Amino acid sequence: MAYMMNAWTVTRPGPIEGRPLEFVRLPVPEPGPGEVLIKVEVCAVCRTDLHLAEGDLAPRRPGTVPGHEAVGRVAGHGAGAGRLATGTRVGVAWLRSTCGRCAYCLRGAENLCPYSTYTGWDADGGYAEYVVAPEDFVYVLPEEYPAQELAPLLCAGIIGFRALSRAELPPGGRLGLYGFGASAHLTLQVALADGARVHVLTRSAQARRLAVELGAASADDAYAEPPEPLDAAILFAPVGDLVPTALAALDRGGTLAVAGIHLTDVPVLGYERHLFYERTLRSVTANTRADGHAYLEHVARRPPRITTVRYDFDQADLALTDLAADRVTGVAVLMVGDSA
Ligand SMILES: [Zn+2]
Ligand SMILES: [Zn+2]
Repeated sequence: MAYMMNAWTVTRPGPIEGRPLEFVRLPVPEPGPGEVLIKVEVCAVCRTDLHLAEGDLAPRRPGTVPGHEAVGRVAGHGAGAGRLATGTRVGVAWLRSTCGRCAYCLRGAENLCPYSTYTGWDADGGYAEYVVAPEDFVYVLPEEYPAQELAPLLCAGIIGFRALSRAELPPGGRLGLYGFGASAHLTLQVALADGARVHVLTRSAQARRLAVELGAASADDAYAEPPEPLDAAILFAPVGDLVPTALAALDRGGTLAVAGIHLTDVPVLGYERHLFYERTLRSVTANTRADGHAYLEHVARRPPRITTVRYDFDQADLALTDLAADRVTGVAVLMVGDSA
């Protein structure tokens, strides 16, 4: 008989008030070839989980377990796996697999692989007591930090780090962050370490206070004009209406990177007002493993201050409801299992 575990599944994608998530009993998954079984301690809550629960991201299979920022320990191996010993502390992130053979994979752009799969979308994720993941795609994590401070690094941190590189902020430059959730609060700290001056633009007054506390030069409403022109900006809020606002705030030659996987429609742009003078608008699509390793090396040198809001494992739907209502300042984390 299979061992059973507790897990959350997206049963009926729809508005979060309609409780699209269900707390269920599932068999503990079996690691397939090249995969490891991981006992989950903590899984951070990402806005993408909310997009999946609400159906903004079309489900790729019914009843998926969401969650792609899971920290735990290796508890079993599938055929051919074994590089990571049982008990190794690891993180499971969004990028679950790539083909390794297509033109994108071969040129180091595996985030664009057409055959890539994603944790908590194509396969069950970390809102569960156990998760399986390809051994080559999990990150070995340090022992000296609590799991709830490591989990947010796995998507919020890594994606923000890639978004910052896509925004091509010049050294000592002026950066605008539109929206200030989990990812932005980590990205701010990377930018400050690089010597940037950072302006945060977000509708949540509590998030603005946190931004200033963490070292932002200014914090104002999302649609406000920043106090100086920006060399680069990152749009974290999933709000297409902010694209023209952020483009208009750029200095000549500036770049706006859109960090989210989902964005509401972008209004019509005016060429002269929004794009001329060589302003650039670009997207950010997932991340490569190289981004992940580079970010984890960065935080090993400069550990970020991580503001977490903890939820018990059986409160995942509450965590997503709070996230939808802007009631989470920092990162929501699900305390899944003990760290035994
Ligand atoms: Zn994410
Ligand atoms: Zn590929």
